[in-house]
Amino acid sequence: MRLNAKQVCAYTGGTMVVPPLASKELLCGVTWDSREVEPGCLFVALMGEKVNGHSFVGSVLSAGAGAVLVMEPLPQTDLMLARELGAAVIEVADTASALTDLAREWRGHLKGHVVAITGSTGKTTAKNLVRDVCAAGKTVVATKANQNNELGVPRTLLSADADTQVVVVEMGMRGRGQIAALCDFVRPDWGLITNVGESHIELLGSRENIARAKGELLEALPSGTGIAFLNGEDDATAFMAQQTQFAARGVEEVRFNGRPAADCLAPGQVPAAAVWAEDAFLDEEGHPLFTLCAQGFEGLEPLDEVHRVPVAMALRGYHNICNGCAAAAVGLRLGLGLQAVAEALGASLPESGRQEVLKTRDGVTVVNDAYNANPDSMRAALRTFAAMETSGRHVAVLGDMGELGDFAESCHRGVGRAAVCCDRLICVGPLSRFTAQGALEAGMDAAAVTAVDSVGQALALLETELSPHDALLVKASHYMGLGRIADGLVN
Ligand code: ATP
Ligand code: MG
Repeated sequence: MRLNAKQVCAYTGGTMVVPPLASKELLCGVTWDSREVEPGCLFVALMGEKVNGHSFVGSVLSAGAGAVLVMEPLPQTDLMLARELGAAVIEVADTASALTDLAREWRGHLKGHVVAITGSTGKTTAKNLVRDVCAAGKTVVATKANQNNELGVPRTLLSADADTQVVVVEMGMRGRGQIAALCDFVRPDWGLITNVGESHIELLGSRENIARAKGELLEALPSGTGIAFLNGEDDATAFMAQQTQFAARGVEEVRFNGRPAADCLAPGQVPAAAVWAEDAFLDEEGHPLFTLCAQGFEGLEPLDEVHRVPVAMALRGYHNICNGCAAAAVGLRLGLGLQAVAEALGASLPESGRQEVLKTRDGVTVVNDAYNANPDSMRAALRTFAAMETSGRHVAVLGDMGELGDFAESCHRGVGRAAVCCDRLICVGPLSRFTAQGALEAGMDAAAVTAVDSVGQALALLETELSPHDALLVKASHYMGLGRIADGLVN
């Protein structure tokens, strides 16, 4: 973002409490985290539940912030410091909504493609893949880590320059209307929906309602120029297309899927452009190898022929084949070459806590997937884990999955049934007792299944039981804190 303090004041409807020195007027970048302040940036003082950003104003001014946006009067000492350093102080009614106002305005300056990504599972992974693929030929700014909410989304837009060619925005949601609210100021040109699963079913009540909520992204795409990147393996895609009628508005559809095209699309259903995978398998460490196939993209002539390139991914798991095809679809639609796309997919690295492979002090391979979990990602992780080669046992530590409401028991039982591919199962947390029951119902030996209440108990069991050739999978919703298992065994 490059705006001056007067523009920030005008766009947010604020009051300039301290005007900036002329030489310090141009602002570059925005943050609400005092540790990330860089000279000349705009610091937004948020009122969090635990932390009040206003208490950091003094230190961010000293660190060189060009302006601070506040919603409560500052002490005289801070005001004097701002005057002394030539930084602006702008007061608004609500700093969080001012951040959105600013992003809404800044969006009007962006000349590149704004690509929004949502879906039940794999948003961050797909966002990173899209970022890395687009970076093969374009300038790109993408959501940092998992900052996909009403603060992170404006921040992503504000971190782009007017000339950035592709802005990739991850959008999270928990209920109806939230994607629409984000799209209202993001105004995405292109939208990608990774899949529609069961996460957040507690609030939305049914998978159809989840599809309706994700469909808000499709409704927001611009008539005539918008492009919807949709998952051909997912039965919710047809439902969303029918609900939102985006095709009737002239929004183009590009399909992707991680399987051979014939598995997912009936003849005649093949849209103008599509990406899929053939001959896919995982190597002994779980990295996908496959043939990326694309058809119907300008630049890949003849348009009615299938173009193929081999891909070897650094990410792990079958599910990343589909995520990779999604990212390839965006890159190819931007006009990037097939070889460049394949190389970028291969080089993309995982975020920490997502299928991260570590070694313990004793040489046990740990798949640390403790960042989060829902039934779909649990099944995907188990499928990948089972395919991983080890001369010892496959040991899984699975914890509770949150936000499943009335569906919690059946979802945990279902995951338990999928866990029979492991030799040993340790279930952590009250809901995970159903995971254990599911595994027993599916025929797992009772001696191989243990349910415990705490991470500490799981760690104690592992410390006595694990032998160097075993492989360990650790996965649960973030609030379960299962990341401590990997920390405890590795560090
Ligand atoms: P959040 O809701 O926290 O933003 P997210 O949608 O961004 O989650 P990721 O962080 O990318 O999802 O991945 C979460 C988990 O889901 C990881 O364990 C990852 O390996 C797994 N995963 C990623 N993509 C898929 C997919 N397409 N199908 C199933 N599981 C997936
Ligand atoms: Mg995410």
